[in-house]
Amino acid sequence: MIQLAPLMVALALGQTDPYVRSRVDAGNTNTQCLYWTATSVTWQQSTYGNPATQGDTEFDAIRRSFQSWQNIFTQCGNLVLTEGPRVDDRQVGYKRTGDNRNLVLFRDRDCTTVVPSTDACWDNDTCANTFDCWEDDDNTIAITLTTYDERSGIIYDSDISFNAARFQFTTADGPTCFPPVTTNCVATDVQNTATHEIGHFIGLDHTRAAGSTMNPSAPPGEVSKRTIDSGSRDFVCVVYPKGMASQACLHPVMEKELGPKGGGGCAATGPGALLPALAAWALWLARRRREEVPR
Ligand SMILES: [Zn+2]
Repeated sequence: MIQLAPLMVALALGQTDPYVRSRVDAGNTNTQCLYWTATSVTWQQSTYGNPATQGDTEFDAIRRSFQSWQNIFTQCGNLVLTEGPRVDDRQVGYKRTGDNRNLVLFRDRDCTTVVPSTDACWDNDTCANTFDCWEDDDNTIAITLTTYDERSGIIYDSDISFNAARFQFTTADGPTCFPPVTTNCVATDVQNTATHEIGHFIGLDHTRAAGSTMNPSAPPGEVSKRTIDSGSRDFVCVVYPKGMASQACLHPVMEKELGPKGGGGCAATGPGALLPALAAWALWLARRRREEVPR
């Protein structure tokens, strides 16, 4: 117990930092941070959208969320987030071949209601893609699935899924909805949710700092996360500095040459370091989920 105490204190302090970077091993500061080395990242919305949201307003709400981050990147960052055309794609995760996309989509069926409990997809975590359904916890509002190199922390793909099977997503301004949900009130706000998830998309983890967009809880009616807080803003300016390479946490990053951008970043340790990195690359991609819950 005594040995655990300092760790618990450290965790408690870390939870209220202005921002917390996602790590290869969540919360373990001895492991690399997750970050993009690309200078331009294209994201795309699934054409299906969310039929339960009034009109097609969910598409614009998500666009506004990315724009909020892009405004900061334009001021002090090095990354351009660009919306690509809407696609019929319903597959999250990283595709090594063919068209890999950074996809934003709503799942409006719960896998438990459409997939037999004996289906092998439950063991493989493949139900969501196979049956186009929400596979994660009922209480999770949305989830960002990130694929990254486990050693370098370099992100190759991020996909955002909304749990429309359980939550009523709205785009209105106004008071919190009391059932029934109307067009003039806020149930679970799309832009509020998306702004938070895009934080994960670019490498932020949760913090319990007051007023942070990256606070893990989101009560019904909340819209405050639409506005990105100063701590999360600092993350962009520090980790993705304008005119400079994106910043790793640990040095050296041997795999820097393998990132989508290449070039910048921390110095490699020499030609010898690159070869094992190349050989191991295919074996080291990992996936991480980050979610938001109502509390
Ligand atoms: Zn989250």
